[in-house]
Parts: sequence; structure tokens; C-alpha cells
Amino acid sequence: MGVNAIPSSLLSVDDGRPDPRILAQGHPPAGPLIDTFARVADDLRVSVTDRCNFRCTYCMPAEGLRWLPKPEILTFEEIDRVVGVFSSLGVRAVKLTGGEPTVRSDLPALVRMLRERDPDLELSMTTNGILLDRLAGPLAEAGLDRVTVSCDSLLRHRFAEMTRRDALERVFGGLRAAEGAGLVPIKLNVVVIGGQNDGEVVSFARFARETGYEVRFIEYMPLDAEHRWERDKVVPNADVLQRIDAELPLVPADGEPHPASTYRFADGAPGAIGVISSVTEPFCDTCNRLRLTSDGKLLACLFVLEEVDLRDPLRSGASDDELVGLIRAGVWAKWEGHRINHPDFVRPTRSMSMIGG
Ligand code: SAM
Ligand code: SF4
Repeated sequence: MGVNAIPSSLLSVDDGRPDPRILAQGHPPAGPLIDTFARVADDLRVSVTDRCNFRCTYCMPAEGLRWLPKPEILTFEEIDRVVGVFSSLGVRAVKLTGGEPTVRSDLPALVRMLRERDPDLELSMTTNGILLDRLAGPLAEAGLDRVTVSCDSLLRHRFAEMTRRDALERVFGGLRAAEGAGLVPIKLNVVVIGGQNDGEVVSFARFARETGYEVRFIEYMPLDAEHRWERDKVVPNADVLQRIDAELPLVPADGEPHPASTYRFADGAPGAIGVISSVTEPFCDTCNRLRLTSDGKLLACLFVLEEVDLRDPLRSGASDDELVGLIRAGVWAKWEGHRINHPDFVRPTRSMSMIGG
């Protein structure tokens, strides 16, 4: 069945679940990875570990989480095999994440495996940046294309407060190393939290102009392990853009990448501003992302309540065709959208670092 074969009258339902009448038609046997809402998934986030060397307040408790035992984590060979299957289904972009991906030992070896299997794969990584001072070179040499570095404050004390690590200088060093190694264009992720770093958005825009980075403001989502999230702390990206535009006029960028809406500076200065407005302006209707957790579960959405296990089938000898069947079925059943703004919203069991953001 092709994407266009789904009757549009069936594409919207009240509770966000796929219409059972479409689900009952089974998943398409060939072609791109589509769901019952006619979205095509071609972007995969691969978590390589649930561990982290930071303790960002909006993500993890100060004492950390109970880490998964090593045997539960996919080996590099297993990750490579699964990524190969996803590639055969049209996935073109893979982003390594975690937890903190750079704490997984010998990460460049995984990058090399993925690169050797597919020279055309768009291969990037999201990192807190603290280990890039020593890893940027080896990762670039192994075939990583670029990095996104998370950095929530340009002020030492606030950075330390938000990440529970006094590491801003070292992250700056990591950014310089990433540039030196050619892991560009660099994107900087900033989670904006009301009453904490929201006064810094214009400073971040100036930083984008000075460095040429794309600074991406991410709305705070209810995915923190301690369940401290409050709607009042979410700063709508519309406000962020307004504040920046008042001082440094912005224009929408052409051919903007999805799902971040991207803006450039009207005066032609380098750098860009991106916004990921998952809470106030969800982009679920065009979401093309899938996630593979470090223990081998496929999540069609950050907020899914049902995961598809790929690890046990993988370890008990499943063929590529069998994995394809599991993946297609998992994507086919993707919900219409997350339910953050609905009264019936249920938080998923896994928090952000256990999924892979
Ligand atoms: N450790 C790496 C890092 O921090 O970049 C990669 C994993 S981290 C889970 C991926 C992204 O998720 C980061 O940019 C982080 O800021 C973001 N994130 C974590 N918790 C979040 C939350 N509750 N709401 C919004 N973004 C969150
Ligand atoms: Fe670690 Fe990234 Fe979570 Fe911060 S956001 S605690 S760096 S996984």
C-alpha cells in the first residue's frame, strides 16, 4: 500500500491512536517507513548508553539513575546491524545520543563501523561536549559528520547550577576542538527554563552571530526523571523569537530543516536561530523521527507508552526480514501525536536520558 492509499477521512481520531480500521489493514510490505497518518520516518536517533557524566536538573536526579547492566546494552555489532536494517528502509540520517554518548568506551569504533557500511549516511551526534576536547579528532577521523552540543547558559555559575557540573570552560574547549576537527556546522541546544536561563536568549543570539553556530532553543518537556516539570516553567519559543527579533531582527531561513524552524539574521550576520517548540507548537504532524534506546527498543515517539523490542529478536537469531517486519509494524502503529497538552496525558516511564533525545 502506498502513502496515498490511506483515505484522508481516516487520518484523524480523537485519542491520537491510529484508527483501528487502518491498523487492521496491516502495514505496508514495501516502500518507505510510513505510519497510518502518512508520515514517513527517515531519521533515527540511536542511544549508545543511558549513562551520563552530567546531572542536568531538567533531565536527571543529582544521584544519577540506576544504569542498565552492560549485558542489556546493544553491542556495536548489534547497533550496526540494526542501523543497516533501518537504512534499507530509507533511513538516511542517524544521530548518536544518550545519556552522554561520549562516555561509551571506544565510540569512534562504532562511528567507523557505521561509516564503512554506508559512506552516504548523514551521521551526527548530540553531546554535552565535555569530552570533545579529546574525542572530536578521533570521531571526525572515524567518519562523524557534525555535532550538536548542549549548553544551557553562557554564565559559569548558571551553567553549573543547571548541569550540576562546573564545566562551562571545558565545554567551550570541546566546541573549539569540534570546529578544529571539522565537525561542522555546529548546532547548540539550549533548553529554556522560566526563571533560570530565559534572560539569556539574546546573549545566545549574539553568541550565534559571533561563532556562526545555529543556536536551537528547545522547550522544556515533561521528560525529566524527577517529575519536576511544570507548565509555568515552559517558555514559549514565540516569546524567545520575539525577544531576539526586537534586538536582532530575524528572517525565516529558506529550506528550513525539520522539525526545527530556522531563522537567520536580517542583516546577514553569520549564525542562525532554531526553535523546537514541542510543547506550545507541536510538530507531530510532520514528525519523521524514530528512536532506538541503548537496550534496543524502538520508540516511534518520545512520549510512546508502547515500545517495540528489537534486542531479544536480534539475539535469538531473527533474520533481517523479521526485523523489518517488527520495525514496520512499530512505525505503522505510531500515534497521531504526543498528548502533552491533553488532560489525559500520561508520562512515559522512561525519562529523556533513558530514551535518547
Ligand atoms: N547528553 C547529551 C546532551 O545533553 O546533549 C545527549 C542526550 S540529551 C538527553 C539530548 C537533548 O535532550 C539535550 O539537548 C538536552 O538538553 C535535551 N533534554 C534533556 N531533558 C530535556 C527536557 N526535559 N526537556 C527538553 N529537552 C531536554
Ligand atoms: Fe546528561 Fe544530556 Fe541529560 Fe544533561 S541532558 S543529564 S548531559 S543526558
